[in-house]
Amino acid sequence: MKGLSVSPDGTAVAQTGNLLGDLAQGLWDQGQRALPHGTCPYVGIGGHASFGGYGFFSRKAGLLLDTVQSAEVVLANGTLTTASATQNPDLFWALRGAGPSFGIVTAWTFATLAAPPVVIDFEINFGAFVPENLTAALISYQAFGSTAPREISMQAVLGPSNGGIYLSFDGDYYGSLDDFHSIFDPWVETLPSFERNVSATSMNWIDAQVAKDGDLSTSSPEPHDTFFAKSLLISEPSTNASLSAWVNYLFDHGISPATNWFVEIDMWGGAIADPPSTSTSFAHRDAIFGYQFYASSKNGAPPYPSSGFSFLNEMVATLNNGNLSAPAYPNYIDPTLSPNESHVAYYGTGFSRLSQIKSAFDPENLFSSNQSIPLSVPPSTTSSAPQETPTSQKNSSPHPTAVHRRFIEYIILFIFYIIFDSVNTFF
Ligand SMILES: Cc1cc2nc3c(=O)[nH]c(=O)nc-3n(C[C@H](O)[C@H](O)[C@H](O)COP(=O)(O)OP(=O)(O)OC[C@H]3O[C@@H](n4cnc5c(N)ncnc54)[C@H](O)[C@@H]3O)c2cc1C
Repeated sequence: MKGLSVSPDGTAVAQTGNLLGDLAQGLWDQGQRALPHGTCPYVGIGGHASFGGYGFFSRKAGLLLDTVQSAEVVLANGTLTTASATQNPDLFWALRGAGPSFGIVTAWTFATLAAPPVVIDFEINFGAFVPENLTAALISYQAFGSTAPREISMQAVLGPSNGGIYLSFDGDYYGSLDDFHSIFDPWVETLPSFERNVSATSMNWIDAQVAKDGDLSTSSPEPHDTFFAKSLLISEPSTNASLSAWVNYLFDHGISPATNWFVEIDMWGGAIADPPSTSTSFAHRDAIFGYQFYASSKNGAPPYPSSGFSFLNEMVATLNNGNLSAPAYPNYIDPTLSPNESHVAYYGTGFSRLSQIKSAFDPENLFSSNQSIPLSVPPSTTSSAPQETPTSQKNSSPHPTAVHRRFIEYIILFIFYIIFDSVNTFF
């Protein structure tokens, strides 16, 4: 299911067998079009757009789910339907932020953009740090990112290196090299005067994707990893004291742990914050930074070391005071959160509306996992209408209730039994 076609008006229909590498390359090939999305070529567009879809272009153009105009989706009752602002609007709302609990999206229709004519691909790599300088660099990054224009997007990456902690910054600027330097250089001057390498290169959109993501081709199998990830989406800058405590934790526990690890701190804000907070079920429009914490087994193969869970959990706890329900990004799913913690962390105040829509579209909770959206009423009463029936359900084609379906199953089983019994008697 890798169909991808772009209409003359820039609308693209992409089947969900496409991965991000296929999407970026296919849009470029069909008229130099572009979308905001993540950087890994092997990530699928089904989950990615359902839960968000963040990439460097997001500060300028939003999350991938913000570009969705409609979705073709298979519902729990087996029907293929369309969800859009005018068809099944409740389902459309739910799919953009919590999609996997509601159906299987078979194709997205995206509103694509003309690819920016010039992208400045930049990075800063530092030599080894001492804790004070690392903290100072993060405080400076946080101050810059909280107010930076949306044309610039950046991530800080940290991890263990040669008995210390490394830090690098890299990102994209959508504009001229001169404009980039006028914004970037004054900030670089505020960083600790430490050995560092700064580079900035002007290139076209597709070369910038390759520069960040590597080869966009997805024809060979992706190497596996055995990892545990967590995330935080923060809407207020962290205090200097908590950044300092966090950096101390990294130096105390992160230099030679039982796992490989890295942390990415992405600049959010900009166009991500433009849509009204209730326009989709994505809950954290006010995030100004997204943290991704990632640890993996040393050789990438199972098992994941058990100490790796506490290592990452405590690393996050030093930043959020151990609040397990702090806002988090559902695309970086954390299996150690309880259902309740994950519901608050991922879906915030939209959770109860999601639960009502769930009862209307998936009354038997077919699309379920430990952290999925549960039904709003106990399963034993799902055959009766939910208290507040979403309008979309009234518009969609009628389907049998749980009780009807079970009755039909019994009849079929009974007929099979009669046939089997008669054949047996005959022989
Ligand atoms: C190496 C790597 C790099 C990443 N980089 C980024 C990044 O830069 N930015 C970012 O935002 N995220 C990033 N992610 C996270 C990524 O967006 C999520 O893991 C995403 O959910 C994966 O989508 P998938 O389609 O591959 O789904 P899977 O991993 O197969 O599934 C994830 C969830 O989506 C559901 N799902 C999958 N397809 C569909 C569908 N068609 N309809 C309904 N539900 C579906 C699944 O049931 C499951 O619940 C990265 C992940 C990895 C592993």
